[in-house]
Amino acid sequence: MIPYGRQLIDEEDITAVVEVLRSDYLTQGTKVSDFELSFCKLTKSSHAIAVNSATSALHIALLSLGVGAGDRVWTVPNTFVATSNAALYCGATVDFVDIDPFTKNISVNELEVKLKAAELAGRLPKVVIPVHFAGESCEMDKIKSLADIFGFKIIEDASHAVGGSFQEQPIGSCKFSDITVFSFHPVKIITTGEGGLATTNSETLAEKMLSLRSHGVTRDLDRLKGEADGVWYYEQQMLGYNYRITDIQAALGISQLDKLRSFLNRRHEIAQRYKEKLSDLPLQTQSYSNGSALHLFQIFVNPAIRKSLFDYLRDREVGVNVHYIPVHTQPYYQSLGFSPTNFPESVKHYKTAISLPVFPSLTNEQVDYVCHVLRGYFE
Ligand SMILES: *Cc1c(COP(=O)(O)O)cnc(C)c1O
Repeated sequence: MIPYGRQLIDEEDITAVVEVLRSDYLTQGTKVSDFELSFCKLTKSSHAIAVNSATSALHIALLSLGVGAGDRVWTVPNTFVATSNAALYCGATVDFVDIDPFTKNISVNELEVKLKAAELAGRLPKVVIPVHFAGESCEMDKIKSLADIFGFKIIEDASHAVGGSFQEQPIGSCKFSDITVFSFHPVKIITTGEGGLATTNSETLAEKMLSLRSHGVTRDLDRLKGEADGVWYYEQQMLGYNYRITDIQAALGISQLDKLRSFLNRRHEIAQRYKEKLSDLPLQTQSYSNGSALHLFQIFVNPAIRKSLFDYLRDREVGVNVHYIPVHTQPYYQSLGFSPTNFPESVKHYKTAISLPVFPSLTNEQVDYVCHVLRGYFE
């Protein structure tokens, strides 16, 4: 089966990992801060905090912005459940904004309408989490303008978008947001096995996230509230977690970052090949910009044939997938009061979309085979 996404690990990656295994520190050595520095360079941000998953990064990002019980967090239904779950971990109330039918990202119009209504009702969100679906940036300048008017904070969920850009700015620069979060799960753009990272330009937020990553504990003499008893002394100043990433993973991340450009170029070549080869079939292909990280490449078909086409492809070893089952339709979210008829554009997108295989080691022959199978279905 050709999967819809997979990692590309080369000998350099393996050497980098083995080097850490032979060293003194498997965790809390220097590789994590090296990885963080590489990310600051990539994204032109001042601070990067690497953790064990994007879910953890979302959680500590929300906590650092002071999100707790009684606060409201908004995101889109067209995302993985992790985005909204992280808000629920904080005790916040989650609500959704529907997507734009063309970009599949948060609809800025819907957001504005909902914000106006929320203002009148005294129910404005504390944080909005736009998700850069498939690696394509949301309209961050417009979302930031709304944040300035309505007073909410912004966390970008850039789990799909390592290496992407918006208006010539790297995603993660936080030019239009408070914090940006990335994922390094093996199907994403680069991998550390499991892993995530948050970037920010705020020293205060960075310090809070660093502390939350490791039990809320500090050894930094400048930050102690009390007197140090000796060099062994540490203080717990807030309730944190163990969300640390290992040096083994960080070394893999650094090595993967070296190949980021070539990974992205290959994803664009593959998408272009799909677009050309599928142009005469009765389906639509995903539109994307040069700045997209192309985590996903989707086709859109009549909902009446989506399942039969999906099964036809799977039966012929093409490991297609569907992104995303709208979060508000999940049984757990239904129990929180959402109805499956809410957010119709996200539901419509779900019913028409199929994600085709796209990953850097996918060959032209494999792309051609996927196109050949698709053509066979329609003929
Ligand atoms: C993968 C993903 C996450 C969660 O990432 P993990 O690193 O697996 O925790 C969150 N949001 C989106 C949009 C994702 O695709």
